[in-house]
Amino acid sequence: MNVEGSVGAVVFDFDGTLAKLNINFPRMRKAVVDLIDSYGVPVDGLRDMYVLEMVDAGMSLIAQKHPGQEHHFLRRANDVITDIEIAAATRGELIEGTREMLRELKKRSIKTGVITRNCQMAVVQVFPDIHEYCNPVITREFTRNVKPHPEHLLSALAFLNVLPQHAFMVGDHPMDIKIGKDAGTFTIGVLSGYSTSGDLLKAGADIILNRADEILGILG
Ligand SMILES: [Mg+2]
Repeated sequence: MNVEGSVGAVVFDFDGTLAKLNINFPRMRKAVVDLIDSYGVPVDGLRDMYVLEMVDAGMSLIAQKHPGQEHHFLRRANDVITDIEIAAATRGELIEGTREMLRELKKRSIKTGVITRNCQMAVVQVFPDIHEYCNPVITREFTRNVKPHPEHLLSALAFLNVLPQHAFMVGDHPMDIKIGKDAGTFTIGVLSGYSTSGDLLKAGADIILNRADEILGILG
């Protein structure tokens, strides 16, 4: 293992990593494309974007065509996304073993944080006591730039006061691996979300695990 010295912190993604993934991203993307389309701007270049980036692109297009209306659009887009996230969260649950794993990491004096593009309300709905286990929990409202922008992870590590080379980033999506690599952490891809080990290895994952709690075996 090429972590330098002891591991000081593990930063986790949330959906698909600590919680079962049940957000319907294609449906969310379609709802946002339809909303942008309703402003009469071209949407063809947007369809393959991640949803938050799609909202940014939609804002720019709408600002060009209907100056001033982009703020109205942003509120509506946030409502569309949050409604889908909250609906998913009400049916959501943690992946088995999550609390036990976090408790064990604490026992081993390893700090834990969470970074997610999801909203705080949805995260707390699924994991009401998350702050007893992880700190910080940086949802999208609390970072200027979300994953895969490295700021999202670097701000968590700054809060934890742990250098990237002493930290792990664990997530189920290639962007979790990308942010870890860009920030300089060791990266672990987990197969509990929608990605395959091929997707995660291609993104540069150092290790692939079936579930996040298997990290205890690595850190043992
Ligand atoms: Mg995820």
